[in-house]
This record gives sequence, C-alpha cells and structure tokens, in this order.
Amino acid sequence: MLEKSVIVIGAGIAGLSAGCYAQMNGYRTRIFEMHTIPGGLCTAWKRKGYTIDSCIHWLVGSKPGRSMNRYWQEVGMVQGREFLDLEEFVRVEDEQGRTLILYTDLDRLEQHLLELAPEDEKLIREFVSAARRLVNFDSPPDRLPGMKGMLEYAGEMLKLVPALPVFPRWGKLSMGEFSARFKNPFLRQAMASTWGEDFPVIAFMMTLAWLHDHNAGYPIGGSLPLALAVEKRFKDLGGEIHYGSRVEQILTEGGRAVGIRLADGREERADIVISAADGHATIFNMLDGRYLDDRIRGCYDHYKLFPPIVYLALGVKRSFEGEPQIISGTVFSLDEPLRVGDKDLQRLEVRIQNYDPTLAPRGHSVIYMILETGYEYWKDLYAEDRERYDAEKQELALRVIRRLEKRYPGLEADVEMVDVATPVTFESYTGNWRASWEGWLPTPDNLMARMSRTLPGLENFYMVGQWVQPGGGLPSGVMTGREVVGMICKQDGRRFSTSLPSEKHPAGQTALHQAGAD
Ligand SMILES: Cc1cc2nc3c(=O)[nH]c(=O)nc-3n(C[C@H](O)[C@H](O)[C@H](O)COP(=O)(O)OP(=O)(O)OC[C@H]3O[C@@H](n4cnc5c(N)ncnc54)[C@H](O)[C@@H]3O)c2cc1C
Repeated sequence: MLEKSVIVIGAGIAGLSAGCYAQMNGYRTRIFEMHTIPGGLCTAWKRKGYTIDSCIHWLVGSKPGRSMNRYWQEVGMVQGREFLDLEEFVRVEDEQGRTLILYTDLDRLEQHLLELAPEDEKLIREFVSAARRLVNFDSPPDRLPGMKGMLEYAGEMLKLVPALPVFPRWGKLSMGEFSARFKNPFLRQAMASTWGEDFPVIAFMMTLAWLHDHNAGYPIGGSLPLALAVEKRFKDLGGEIHYGSRVEQILTEGGRAVGIRLADGREERADIVISAADGHATIFNMLDGRYLDDRIRGCYDHYKLFPPIVYLALGVKRSFEGEPQIISGTVFSLDEPLRVGDKDLQRLEVRIQNYDPTLAPRGHSVIYMILETGYEYWKDLYAEDRERYDAEKQELALRVIRRLEKRYPGLEADVEMVDVATPVTFESYTGNWRASWEGWLPTPDNLMARMSRTLPGLENFYMVGQWVQPGGGLPSGVMTGREVVGMICKQDGRRFSTSLPSEKHPAGQTALHQAGAD
C-alpha cells in the first residue's frame, strides 16, 4: 500500500491531532517539536507542590454524543476523564455590593437577570431564548465531503435548523454593543466586563449554550494530561515525535514543500508538510513570505490578536471551601487602578481553583489571574535589563496580593507560591506571534470567515490550529487537524477514515467513519 510521509511542525493539540489523523490514514508521520513535552499552550508546570495550569477552563466537546466529543475520542483525549459541570460561569461584583452571576443553567440565568434588571425584560428574554436555540447546535457538521452517510449528515443539518434565526439577528453584534443595550446601569457595566468588547455576542451565547448542555466541562487534572493523552494516542498509532527540534525553514522545490530544516542544520524530508506552529512564523519566517496573497496578508495586517497577558498564579494555604466554584472566576472593581506593565487595570478577575484537588496539596488551592498588558513593555524590559524584568514581576505579584488581601482578608499570610508568566514567557515558550495566547481574536466580522489551510503557489503544504481559525481554543486544533488530513486524502484519491483508540485500526480497513474520495 502507498505509504506517503508527513512532517508536522509543532506538538500542540493541533499538531498532535493532525498527526493522529495522518497515522489513522496510513501516512508515516513525524512531529518535530521545539520543546521537551507536548501541548504547546495547553500546558502546566509545577512549583512548590502546586500546579500552574496555564490553559483549560472548559473543554467544548466534553459531552458524549456530541460531534466534538467524538473527535476528542478519536484522538484519545477524553476517555476515562472526569469532567465537572459547574453551576457558575463568571461573577461580576461592583462597589455597591451588587453581583451578576452568569449561571450555566439558562433558566436560572434568565431568572437572575430578570431579578437584577426587570426593565430589560425584553432584551433578556430575547438573549436567553437565542442561547437556548443554540443548545443543540453542536459543532458544525464535517466539512469533509462524503464523510457521513446521507442520513447521518441530514440528521446533523436538521439539528442546526432551530439555531438558524439566531445568526442574522445576533451574528454581527459585539459584546460591547450588546452590553450597551441594557437600560440597567449595573447590568450594562457588568455584562461589558465579562468578555472583551470586540468579542462576538454569538460566541458568548454559544459558550453559554454549551455550558447549559454540559458539553463544556472542566477536566479534572487540567491541561497537561489532555496533551499527554493525545501524544500517547499518536505514538500508539505508530507516529514518531522528535522533541528539542526547532524548525527554522520549510524546504521547497518547484512550488512544493519537500521537508524542513532544523535549527541544528539537519534537513528532514517528507511528501507533505503540515505546520501546526505559529502562523506568522510559518508564513513570514519559515517560508520567507514567498507564498502569500492579499487575503492572507490582509488577515496578518488587520485581524486583532488575543491581547497579551500576564498570567499570575498564587499557591495558598487555604481550601476556599466556602467560596463558590466558578469556571472563569470573579471579577471585582479595584479602588485604585492596578499597574500591569504599561497598562492600568480597573478590575481584577480572580479564578480560585477550589474544584480540582489534583492541582494543589490537600487544604491548599491555586488562584489564577489573567491580566491584560502591553507586549512591547515586557519585551523591551526583558531585552534591556533582566534584573529589572525579574523585579517588575515580583513587584506586580506583591501589588496583586495586596489587592486580594482587601477582598480575601488574611490571604497575604497564606501565600506560599508565586508564579508570573509575562508575554515574553508565552512567546518564547510557544513561539506564538506577539504572545497571542489563542491566536486571532474572534470578532463579528471574522468569526464565520474561513481562513485558508493552504498557501497560494505551494503544493503539499497545509496549516492547522489556532492561526487558521479565529477564536482558537483546543477545538480549533482537532477540527483543523482532522479537516486537513481529509483534504490530503482527497488530494491523494483515498478514503478518509478515523478510528477510536480501542479499535485495532490499520488504516484502510473497516473504520468508525469513512469518507469517499470525491
Ligand atoms: C490562559 C489560557 C487559557 C485558555 N483557556 C482555554 C480553554 O479553557 N479552552 C480552550 O479550548 N482553549 C483555551 N486556551 C487556548 C488554547 O490553549 C489554545 O488555543 C490551543 O492550545 C492552541 O493550540 P495549537 O496547537 O493551535 O497551538 P500551540 O499550542 O501554540 O502549539 C504550537 C506548538 O508548536 C511548537 N512550535 C512553535 N514553533 C516551532 C518551531 N519553529 N519548531 C518546532 N516546534 C514549534 C510550539 O512549541 C507548540 O508546542 C487557553 C489558553 C491560555 C493561554
């Protein structure tokens, strides 16, 4: 049987997923990853007995029976994993003691919003009813032609019908515009501080719908076990993974990708190259900007990125048993602004991890904070003065702890561990452009836009992951990895097939799902 070879650049969730599907379809696949472990942004590290988990809040596709769950099963991520479906998504408190709670149950959420702002009844009812229509929306049906039998495909399309009216009505609205529609001043302000003002309200609604459906649970154990599980699946399928292997160039010959050159000068060749690394580095560095058109350049010139952040984690000698368990955390106003690099924050979002006992010793907890900041500030400081950079991190942590002390009295004395990751950390650890931690910021304009998975003028080359799907997140990795291998199969005139880990599935034999080559 024809056995073509594939090189994948990067062992984040996208690269690992692409690798799994390539192996399932009989491609001899090698992944080259610059780090020593898999996961990319989906990672965690240990300090003083605490786990600093730097990714997962919720995993779309945690519910068996949903499309995304099947994808996660195929790449071995969710089997045997315990998921928690918490009752609260986010809390917003104001200075007057008012609290907005975004409940994950839509009925409860509606009731709560109506109690807070009866004058906004019409808007609240319309919003929650639109979110309800999205509950069965699931992930979009496979784009791969022939992937499903006609009946199964028609069944999935039917599930989308109730959701269809939601898109023309809400599709172009941003969170900022939506929040501004509330007459109630507290709700107007509180809603605006839940998600960024450019975010599409429809993405917010979908998240609420998935949470309501128990299809966006938190996986006990956190991020790294997710990545390790997919790495295992890839290896079990016969894939090879090379760590400590930074790719510097994608080799091309006559308009075709033919391999890679590593930082140590070694060259590796393959029939097909898939980049699951940062999009900007892939296009402008590894390929020197030679394969571009106006559309792709336009994305890199105009799309917004997820803003750079300082990710601050504290290990504390407290169980926070009495505190509510909240997926994203509690947002509260500060009596004076908090300086983070070159930005002043008026609010703090604090995620107390009191629901995953694996992340801290018994009776202790980790507190995580995502603090928006500037990119150049940290980059320049790091380049110019390492000592000041380190000192600035420590001072920031102290400033934050003092603010937390006011909200959680006695906390300062309980802090045992401090970890501060800046945009420099994110960029150097994962190679992501301008330290973007989820790729392109989704906006009403780009959310439904389809970015190309190939580059003009370059054959045998594909891109997967958060840089080809605005909004990023772990699902973008498995979806684009799966889709691109489907495209490769189609190009080669072979049937795309997938399997589950329990199945002994040499590619080409009976599989769970098979696609026609048309
Ligand atoms: C704080 C935080 C919270 C998040 N919360 C969630 C959440 O709750 N749910 C969710 O779904 N998503 C969440 N995300 C987003 C999610 O982590 C990312 O969108 C996703 O992991 C991106 O995967 P990827 O494989 O596309 O890219 P990456 O994870 O960036 O993987 C790219 C890989 O390529 C490697 N690489 C780069 N350059 C090279 C090179 N030259 N040579 C070799 N290897 C290279 C990198 O080391 C890396 O391993 C969160 C992220 C953060 C930071």
